[in-house]
Amino acid sequence: MRRSYKFLLRPTAKQTAALTACLDDHRTLYNAALEHRRTAYAKAKVSIRYGDQSAELKHIRADDPHGQARWGFSSQQATLRRLDKAFRAFFDRVKAGRTPGFPRFKGRGRFDTVTWPKDGDGCRWDSQPEHPAATFVRLQGVGHVRVHRHRPVRGRVKTISVKREGSRWFVVLSCDDVPASPLPATGAVVGVDMGVASLATTSDGEHLASPRHLAASAGKLADAQRDLARKKRGSARRRKAVARVAALHGKVRRQRVDGAHKAANALARDYDVIVCEDLRIANMTKAPAPKPDPDRPGAFLPNRAAAKAGLNKNILDAGWGVFLTILVHKAESAGRELITVNPANTSRTCARCGHRAAENRVTQAGFRCTACRHEAHADVNAAINILRAGLALRDAAQAA
Ligand SMILES: [Zn+2]
Repeated sequence: MRRSYKFLLRPTAKQTAALTACLDDHRTLYNAALEHRRTAYAKAKVSIRYGDQSAELKHIRADDPHGQARWGFSSQQATLRRLDKAFRAFFDRVKAGRTPGFPRFKGRGRFDTVTWPKDGDGCRWDSQPEHPAATFVRLQGVGHVRVHRHRPVRGRVKTISVKREGSRWFVVLSCDDVPASPLPATGAVVGVDMGVASLATTSDGEHLASPRHLAASAGKLADAQRDLARKKRGSARRRKAVARVAALHGKVRRQRVDGAHKAANALARDYDVIVCEDLRIANMTKAPAPKPDPDRPGAFLPNRAAAKAGLNKNILDAGWGVFLTILVHKAESAGRELITVNPANTSRTCARCGHRAAENRVTQAGFRCTACRHEAHADVNAAINILRAGLALRDAAQAA
């Protein structure tokens, strides 16, 4: 199986300057290649392809010995391929009749990753498994950069990327042939409801990864974004506000990934079969109802509270995606069975008698069946329904 690892880099001041220059030059290359394609298309209706631009690279490097020529050939090709991908997506959107959105020039802060497609070609992962402290990544034009390898890397390193997040630098490895490490069978099955008060609630009544800290950071982020919107363009205060928003984004992301890892680890450790919601469907069914404007039929009321709730919701939504991605990997690695089900009606159906009614859901957390008087935590009730739906799917599949 394939897996990626992300580690903090500890570059020296000189290496930091080189990393910044490396990123800037790759961004310049991206923008120049984009300009080239635009002009050719606007003036002569000619489509420039990746192959044409890649062939130009050696001239570009020869003309700029102290600039572009410092970096690896293959990382520059990867940058041109990235532009090619943006154009393919653009043409696909045109074909599909959607809003095309022409590929855009990348400003500073909008281009934060450089990728080397092959370990050993312009880059080298240098790690001794027994000595995590002696881990480095060698990057052409940058040097031998120290890596904080907080967990072992398994499998074969395929691609190496360097990523800037705020003022920090990371290396991301994509590895192939990562061996699975099956966990002993537990004989237990579980249904998982993804929610707002807790990231995940199990059919056994456990609440995993309560996003309390995340919600606090999300609130601060909303405030910081409002603050940023009031600052004058080009001012020193605006730059500070931008840095603050970026730092809070980073914090939210780290908290989210951390919570998702903990919840997914607990599930993969304790259960052989894990049933959860199909996220594409969950996102639609869980969208909050917009408030209609009574004076204008078909229009909706804007309000600040809703905007803030909207942001919170976006953050939680993204949390579900991160959680499911991590859970899929952990389950595969541990040899667990993961089943996804359509979550429609799981929150309004009574897990004891099967009676389905919107009135069953009395509050965000409270469930009381109007038919049999069964009372439960709403998320636990939903998780039991999810488990049941998953086991039914599994039985049907085994019978077929
Ligand atoms: Zn009931």
